[in-house]
Amino acid sequence: MDKFSATLRIGDLNDYIAPSQGCVIKTENVGKARTAPKEVQTEPVKISLKDCLACSGCVTSAETVMLEKQSLDEFLLNLNKGKAVIVSLSPQSRASLAVHFGLTPIQVFGKLTTLFKSLGVRSVFDTSSSRDLTLIESCNEFIERYKQSISTDDEKSKSTLPMISSSCPGWICYAEKTLGSYILPYISSVKSPQQTIGAAIKNHLCQKLSLRPEDVYHVTVMPCYDKKLEAVRDDFVFQVNSDGERFAEVDSVLTTGDVLDLIQSRSVDFTALEESPVDTLLSNVDEKGHLYGVAGSSGGYADTTFRYAAKVLFGKEIEGPLEFKTLRNVDFREVILEANGKVVLRFALCYGFRNLRNIVTKIKSGKCEYHFLEIMACPSGCLNGGGQIKPKPGQSAKDLIQLLETAYSENMLVANPFENPRIKRLYSEWLGEPGSEKAKRHLHTEYHPVVKSISSQLQNW
Ligand code: SF4
Repeated sequence: MDKFSATLRIGDLNDYIAPSQGCVIKTENVGKARTAPKEVQTEPVKISLKDCLACSGCVTSAETVMLEKQSLDEFLLNLNKGKAVIVSLSPQSRASLAVHFGLTPIQVFGKLTTLFKSLGVRSVFDTSSSRDLTLIESCNEFIERYKQSISTDDEKSKSTLPMISSSCPGWICYAEKTLGSYILPYISSVKSPQQTIGAAIKNHLCQKLSLRPEDVYHVTVMPCYDKKLEAVRDDFVFQVNSDGERFAEVDSVLTTGDVLDLIQSRSVDFTALEESPVDTLLSNVDEKGHLYGVAGSSGGYADTTFRYAAKVLFGKEIEGPLEFKTLRNVDFREVILEANGKVVLRFALCYGFRNLRNIVTKIKSGKCEYHFLEIMACPSGCLNGGGQIKPKPGQSAKDLIQLLETAYSENMLVANPFENPRIKRLYSEWLGEPGSEKAKRHLHTEYHPVVKSISSQLQNW
């Protein structure tokens, strides 16, 4: 899936909105388009996914978008074609399906394993496991940046803090295409859980199974459309040989809604479907069949890094939940650590474009006092992603989020990523130490300021 056609309303291009609030995009006589010749207005504009400006409207409003290759169709086309198909399921998608069907997330995991395997899928994993990998690398990176920031080299320390989480492609897209070079050094170099599980499967698991990466078709199930944009980034697609053969860490991304479409299109009685044992190799499921992972339905980046930094840098072991204080609104909360009457760690959760615009303004003016920011483009975070199942008739979005939060947190044992046996094995068998040269090669990435090609074209109309 690399191209789609959409009709565009010029005014929307500069107006970034949350991915969960997709705008309607149609050719209309607005702005400069009023002066365009008639025949130009009636032709849909061809753009590629790489032209996306992260307003998310054109990739979240299914009724106004025609993807040339629908992900679900592409997924079904790639089954039973001689490739080993592996599915990695996000915990937010699991929670969405659980609430929709009145099940628990582990039941959903077992039933999806049955469904996908009946279609020819070889393994179904869980991205909570790769999130732990991402978190460990992020903790390690934060300690390095913090130490650098308090070093005497002022020039070097300028762009080390705040460190900004990098797992939300809506935010990354916005940063690269709108904010540009000043913000990029602050963003953590660690890849998102979607990409780290892709790296583990294509680079490590394939080797263990004596498979070539290009012979594995890896599909993720995610809460938003922006994950499709992430999967097609050039940084995550690799040239295999001079014949042009390539492999991607993630070959296709299904949203939670796509999976619901699959269930409904096959007339599957999902609640009655048998639960298969889940594949534990890359899944956070313990021997008693319980899901485990970090606290925080959007990844727990601030929570985990705060605890780790408190322990490593200041010798403080924090038990129990962190006390996040709500600031402007529930999507902007902070937690601090004091030592000798001085604030030594100041972290914040910053969700939704309204909040993130404010915080990046402060960073630009040098007035941001945070050491770490967990930024997510969606208000309420990933459970509210644009690819999640919509509220039922009569159900408010707020009520649905509450149900999702409960389903997510009540059914998962909170566990320290550093104690995860699956991840310990990945380090011992494959990566060595956190932050090692191999870990940097496979689990870290770079960001690039991007020229707004489509908008500049449109402005020339
Ligand atoms: S906050 Fe989560 S669901 Fe929303 S765009 Fe970012 S990664 Fe996707």
